[in-house]
Amino acid sequence: MKDRFYIRDAPEYAGESVTVRGWVYNKRSHGKVKFLILRDGTGFMQAVLVEGECTDEALDLFGDLTQESSVIASGTIRKEPRAIGGYEMSLDTLEVVHIAEDYPIQPKEHGPEFLLDNRHLWLRSRRQWAILRVRDALVFSIREYMRENGFVLIDTPILTGSIGEESGTLFKTEYFDQGVAYLAQTGQLYLEAAIFSHNKVFDFGPTFRAEKSKTRRHLTEFWMVDAEVAFCDNYENMDIQEDFIRAIVRKTVERCPEELEILERDAEKLVSEVERPFARITYDEAIELLKSKDFKVEWGSDIGGAAETIISENYDTPVFVYNYPKKIKAFYMKEHPERTELSLCSDLIAPEGYGEIIGGSQREEDIDKLLARIREEKLPEEAYGWYLDLRKFGSVPHSGFGLGVERTVAWVCGIGHIREAIPFPRMIYRLNP
Ligand code: ATP
Ligand code: MG
Repeated sequence: MKDRFYIRDAPEYAGESVTVRGWVYNKRSHGKVKFLILRDGTGFMQAVLVEGECTDEALDLFGDLTQESSVIASGTIRKEPRAIGGYEMSLDTLEVVHIAEDYPIQPKEHGPEFLLDNRHLWLRSRRQWAILRVRDALVFSIREYMRENGFVLIDTPILTGSIGEESGTLFKTEYFDQGVAYLAQTGQLYLEAAIFSHNKVFDFGPTFRAEKSKTRRHLTEFWMVDAEVAFCDNYENMDIQEDFIRAIVRKTVERCPEELEILERDAEKLVSEVERPFARITYDEAIELLKSKDFKVEWGSDIGGAAETIISENYDTPVFVYNYPKKIKAFYMKEHPERTELSLCSDLIAPEGYGEIIGGSQREEDIDKLLARIREEKLPEEAYGWYLDLRKFGSVPHSGFGLGVERTVAWVCGIGHIREAIPFPRMIYRLNP
């Protein structure tokens, strides 16, 4: 397989004869010259068929080719700045592997529901191809950052007996004679256990939330990266998040110039958004800002999607909103030492209205305060015994955060709905394909 040609490598093969194994994306004729747009998973390339220069068989087969038929095409690569990808093939021979039936997705506008019903085929479209390659590069960059910065990977369980975030959005399943198991909403609580063994840890995996809202930012299954650090307060926690986001966005942009061009995403703008120090405002300031923009909001209420958009419009960097009212945040967040009505926490809001991408906080170390919050929230106390143990044996100040992969992909790609940021999206009204 090593010597096999892939379209992505075309610049290295100018003047050489190669074979493309792929699919027909499109075709058109111009008198005696015929054009095929081929794709092989690594890129798109035009193949040109000219009478007398290619075999007669190839010209005959051209007529039969339908969109998405699979072919093996051989010919010579040459630079052609006007062609897709900047290189084209002057085709010599053509072999058909499979003639595709009438393909449901045409090069025209289709409605989102139709496309989602055909997600298994829609994945082949150029934009979707580009988005999932950006996702791949982002995930790689995240893992690279964690390794380079001394975070140890801890794979946290998906089936759990304890609750992570809020009981309202839990998926439940029967679990033998142990009663009910819940699908993980986050791996955070388990990461907290692991810092006492490894100091700096992260997890990366699918998380599940039975979100009843049909927003463009919520899936019921999404991928999350959690990080947790010992001897770290809420401010250092924000510093880490800022460094992390700056690094992964830069690296992804570096790795995906072609993909971002296909998506018509301004890569320079994206990089400039993360280069400068991120804005940091308190929850109190955020509420004042929203009120000054005539947004209807009261101190104490959560900052939802529409409010996040208004806040992000005020800055050209990501914005931390920190120290929210305790009432609207999770039980494990540390109480503000002077203003006990607040938690030491932060949400990171992406620029341009892409919404919250990270939730983070310092964790409560005081076992009595934790227990009181667990009771207040009516969480099953017996399931948290192991978590409370962590406060009994060498407890330290510690903080962490969780990044939503799909929301970050949506921001980097500049797409309006996160359903396109994951190969097979799961939403309340969609379980197939
Ligand atoms: P929101 O208020 O937008 O529902 P959240 O406060 O519930 O978010 P966290 O519990 O802090 O979110 O989760 C950490 C990150 O996971 C979020 O910042 C976001 O990027 C992502 N996230 C949370 N819920 C979802 C979801 N249903 N679909 C996709 N990503 C999500
Ligand atoms: Mg939520």
